Amino acid sequence: MREITLSNGKTVEVECLSCALTSGLIQPDGGVVLETEYFHAHQDVAYPIKGLIIIASKRHIKRFDELTEYEQVDYITVLSRIRKAQRDILGIDYVYYFYNEDTSHHFHTWMVPRYDWMYEFGRSVESVRPVLLHAREEMNNDENIQEVMEAIKSLRKELNT
Ligand SMILES: [Zn+2]
Repeated sequence: MREITLSNGKTVEVECLSCALTSGLIQPDGGVVLETEYFHAHQDVAYPIKGLIIIASKRHIKRFDELTEYEQVDYITVLSRIRKAQRDILGIDYVYYFYNEDTSHHFHTWMVPRYDWMYEFGRSVESVRPVLLHAREEMNNDENIQEVMEAIKSLRKELNT
C-alpha cells in the first residue's frame, strides 16, 4: 500500500491510485470529467492547474501494447475530445502529453496545458516539473482552486452534452 497526499491535504492509502479513481473508491476533486467504457478522465488531484486532465484506463495495465483494439480507438477519441474542449472552453492553445509505463499507478496520460506564466520556467519537457511544483506550492489558494473547479465543471458540461 502507498500513502498518497491529495491536493486538499487529505491522505489515502491505496494499492493503485488509478484503480482507486477509476473504480470510484476515491472521488477526484471536482468529480469525473468524462467516462467511457474503457477510460476515465479527471482533473489531476495533486496539482491545481486549470484543465490539467488525467486520462486513466479502467483496466489495470501499464504498457501501451496491452491496450485492446477497442481501447486504442476509445483512447484516441477521448484524448481528442478533451483536447477540443480544452481549446473551446478554456482557450488552451498548447498541451503537453505525458505517459510513462514504469509508473506505480496504472495506465494514465497527463494532458498538461501550457499557460503564459509557465514560460518563465522554460519550454519543453524540462520545464514541466518546476511548473507542477510551482502550482502545488504557490497556487493552492482559494481563488485558484475555485477557478480550477469551475474549469472542471465547464469541461464536464461540454463533454457530456
Ligand atoms: Zn490499477
